[in-house]
Amino acid sequence: MTLLVLMYHRAQTDRFGNDAAMLDAHFAYLRRHYACILPGEPLDPQRLNVCLTFDDAYYDFFAVAYPLLSKHGLCAVLAVSPGLIIERVEAVEGTRLALSSYDAYAYPERGGLCTWTELRQLALDPRIAFAAHGRTHVRLDNYRADLSREIADAKTVLQERLCREVNSFVYPFGGFNAETQVWARKFYRHVFRIGQASNRGWQAPLLYRVVADGMSTPESLFTPARLLRYRCNALWNRARGV
Ligand SMILES: [Zn+2]
Repeated sequence: MTLLVLMYHRAQTDRFGNDAAMLDAHFAYLRRHYACILPGEPLDPQRLNVCLTFDDAYYDFFAVAYPLLSKHGLCAVLAVSPGLIIERVEAVEGTRLALSSYDAYAYPERGGLCTWTELRQLALDPRIAFAAHGRTHVRLDNYRADLSREIADAKTVLQERLCREVNSFVYPFGGFNAETQVWARKFYRHVFRIGQASNRGWQAPLLYRVVADGMSTPESLFTPARLLRYRCNALWNRARGV
């Protein structure tokens, strides 16, 4: 096994997250044991390589996760749906952090997601890479999805607004099919799905990610049994051609 891509969402206790204390200890553990890299960077042949991906750009990434990543000297990918991002919000930090994941999406004006101002601040840090996460976070394997808008336009908007190259795409809800893959591979070098499996490197047309939300301990994703399962899943998925 060479590359494990980890998928996070919220930086608080939630079905879709881990609280700050857990992330702090988890990041310290990652820093001690593994090589943390961004998409396309060379793999360390001596160690397990990990790539951290945070989906949806919740405000708690900016307020909680990013300072912890910086504290531990780690890098990460932030997957953003640019159609849901607003310029600035009036709400105070506590109110924004308290919003549920559902409200963050349903009511963008309440500030549950990062603003463009905050994303531009993150974009100044080369340790943060950006991925497009659809333009409006709809499932793309739905026949009604506008793939040009959701896949191609999402890249254009992010690059223009953040002045950073965007070479990665993360499927919203992990939903994809053969047609979405043609679009995604046309516009992005790295395309991510879910799948609880490891990867041999960056060259795969579709990279698997392992769910890192709701960890029971800082190292619970890395037990020998789990590592074996990620590898078996990768072999099984390859054998099935998915
Ligand atoms: Zn998402």
